Amino acid sequence: MIYGALEAGGTKMVLSTGNENNELLERVSIPTETPDITIPRMTEWFAAHGISSLGIGTFGLVDLNPASDTYGWITSTPKFAWRNCPLMPLMQEKLGVPVRIDTDVNAAALAEYRLGAARGMHSCLYVTVGTGIGGGLIIGDRLVHGMMHPEAGHMLLRSASGDPSPDGICPYHKGCAEGLASGPAIEKRWGIPARDLPEDHIAWAIVADYIAQMCVNAVCTVSPEIIILGGGVMHQRHLFPLIRKRVRELLNDYICVPQITKKIDEYIVSPGLGDDSGAIGALLLAIDAVHG
Ligand code: ADP
Ligand code: ZN
Repeated sequence: MIYGALEAGGTKMVLSTGNENNELLERVSIPTETPDITIPRMTEWFAAHGISSLGIGTFGLVDLNPASDTYGWITSTPKFAWRNCPLMPLMQEKLGVPVRIDTDVNAAALAEYRLGAARGMHSCLYVTVGTGIGGGLIIGDRLVHGMMHPEAGHMLLRSASGDPSPDGICPYHKGCAEGLASGPAIEKRWGIPARDLPEDHIAWAIVADYIAQMCVNAVCTVSPEIIILGGGVMHQRHLFPLIRKRVRELLNDYICVPQITKKIDEYIVSPGLGDDSGAIGALLLAIDAVHG
């Protein structure tokens, strides 16, 4: 059987097919325009590939309550055309196959938990630091859906010392993680794309401080067995030692477990599945929709 995997993002939609061995086969990327344009393009592509089911990892906010009238809808998003868009019902109606949906980062967390860096564990936090910041969470072998879904990227942080614009760029919040440490936040602050900032630039200590604060907040609230940091900004590998060091400083010997005191290199890590966590996660949702 062939399964469909959709990573729905605010700037692009990544469509993949895969098989029951969790292997990705074909992949295309199309720009996220309006639902009227983009949804038919996606259903056409998936229909042409004869998929048996579809998994969607999406940007959001998204309604993930199966009992709700708006289950599977994008609810609020800065992308105006996608507000109150019945993404999952529209895909399901056109394709006539089972569809399962979760957030993009919950999908990535699921993939890392089953097949990647958190394999064999019962919990993990997956954070992406890219165009936005988001966190997906597995606790007690289950994806976390509470009142809604976690929105870890919008946790409020305290200003890092030396930050020239500590309010950040989030249109909703002053001083939230996404507004302070996402790729666009870095570019806006220093006027240079994040990928072009030299390793010794002050930006990296500041960004590492914010990501470390997110990790500390996660350690102190949900206590995941591993923290996986992915997304474009984390391609800057030199951020990892900065973040680990700052996490230890901020925890200040309060939480004395080997994962923090001795083996933090194995506690705060890059994704085991590289940049494929999101796509493989969507594939796993598709497989689960039939066999789960
Ligand atoms: P998205 O979040 O849109 O799915 P990415 O995770 O690739 O996609 O994130 C894109 C963001 O990451 C952009 O803001 C870009 O500036 C930043 N980025 C991409 N590659 C790098 C890199 N090598 N170093 C630093 N920042 C990067
Ligand atoms: Zn925010």
